[in-house]
Amino acid sequence: ELRRVTRALLSVSDKTGLIDFARGLIAHGIDLISTGGTRRALADAGLPVLDISEVTGFPEMMDGRVKTLHPAVHGGLLAIRANPEHQAAMLANGIGAIDLLVVSLYPFEATVAKGASYDDCIENIDIGGPAMIRAGAKNHVDVAVVVDGSDYAAVLAELAANDGSTGVELRRRLAQKAYARTAAYDAAISNWLADTLGETAPPYRALGGTLAEELRYGENPHQGAAFYRTGARRAGVASARQLQGKQLSYNNINDTDAAFECVAEFDPSRAAAVAIIKHANPCGVAEGATLLEAYERALRCDPVSAFGGIVALNRPLDAAAAARIVEIFTEVIIAPAASDEAIALVAAKKNLRLLLTGGLPDPRAPGLTLRTVAGGFLVQGRDNAVVDDMELRTVTKRQPTPQELADLRFAFRVAKHVKSNAIVYAKDGATVGVGAGQMSRVDSARIAAWKAAEAARAAGLPQSLAVGSVVASDAFFPFADGLLAAAEAGATAVVQPGGSMRDNEVIAAADAAGLAMVLTGHRHFRH
Ligand code: 5GP
Repeated sequence: ELRRVTRALLSVSDKTGLIDFARGLIAHGIDLISTGGTRRALADAGLPVLDISEVTGFPEMMDGRVKTLHPAVHGGLLAIRANPEHQAAMLANGIGAIDLLVVSLYPFEATVAKGASYDDCIENIDIGGPAMIRAGAKNHVDVAVVVDGSDYAAVLAELAANDGSTGVELRRRLAQKAYARTAAYDAAISNWLADTLGETAPPYRALGGTLAEELRYGENPHQGAAFYRTGARRAGVASARQLQGKQLSYNNINDTDAAFECVAEFDPSRAAAVAIIKHANPCGVAEGATLLEAYERALRCDPVSAFGGIVALNRPLDAAAAARIVEIFTEVIIAPAASDEAIALVAAKKNLRLLLTGGLPDPRAPGLTLRTVAGGFLVQGRDNAVVDDMELRTVTKRQPTPQELADLRFAFRVAKHVKSNAIVYAKDGATVGVGAGQMSRVDSARIAAWKAAEAARAAGLPQSLAVGSVVASDAFFPFADGLLAAAEAGATAVVQPGGSMRDNEVIAAADAAGLAMVLTGHRHFRH
């Protein structure tokens, strides 16, 4: 199903590559029509081009709001060439066919991103562009629609291969991409309006994103996958600069996000912090005077699991930390920045990816998390509750000591980033045992205690790292058993949301074991 291209309409905000592309079209004898700015750019390059006003018989008007919204344009895009009635209508109304449409929309997303005024953003809502894109893409049986300059080369190659015609498969592919573009564009507009209304949570959010990258595969090799950017202004994996290493995989991106979101909870002006992540769960998180110290302490929590892990830092990567991290097989390092010396040290490991984000995301910022269910998806506000903002209530006879209290906050901060049921033992600003993803809380408590004992064995220490630690639970203890398991392991203080029917029983057990216990009133489920 080849379709000869005789006339093309070019209307592009982003004029990158325009002139070369237009020259290629002209070489095939294709006539060009353009809107104001695009026409000027082409004419300035000495290329023959017809002004859109000569096609519509109307001037461009209302600050460009109305340029191409006219039957001479939309009829030329929508007429089915093989339909005699459509042909007759074109003839009767003096409408010429448009076989190739090239549009890059007003840069709405970029205008919002640079913090432009309300009126500026409104003016950058493209109306005629999406209307033409949707019209041409509907009629892809006859019309090719290009919405992205990165497709210019493929279109020219197609025209060259088919003596000035396009094939149906390319036209259908371009149509698919065209509707993805208009869908993402409208989502961006809706979300900007929601932002201006102060609506940051569901259901006032439209889901849409721009394809950033096709991934080799998903969680498993038989699953296709792709990475989309929503354009949200957040430092993180989607906006990071990758300095070196292989392409990130689906699992890498997921784990790197978990790592960076976790470490971003730790204020870099207070202390250096490091999170080591495997399968989206922390296997060690620690603060330290330096990144090196924080890394060593994080690693001590679970050196076995850290193999092949992802390391996130809350401060710029320095040479001392880099030299130590590269000693262990690590998939990804993500940090706000890195020193030249550190970059050089990482460069010795060709496959190791180094991602620099330029900053840390605000853990209190709103956002969305979503997951699919059969036939639909669930959207919720990001868990942006931070333990520092919570009112901690001591419910036991014993008050936590200041050191215990600091560690309780630390442990609860980490527990937010551990899959439920989450139990986290911590001591002196470092995790010493993490129990994740178990179906019963007591099992998570036991696993975390067992891991604390294993870590001590690996370090050649005589007693479990859990001895003298504190423990955090992401949700309330439904029974006293989980708490007793923690006490048995050597924990001296507990933090948990509270709110169980059996809170009194759990508090009594804590008192009997001599534990201090504080309630946060906030749950940090994470599934
Ligand atoms: P130019 O730089 O050629 O003057 O304008 C190109 C831009 O105008 C493209 O981004 C295109 O999508 C947009 N455009 C084309 N027709 C119309 C229209 O009728 N109304 C509006 N608002 N934008 C249009």
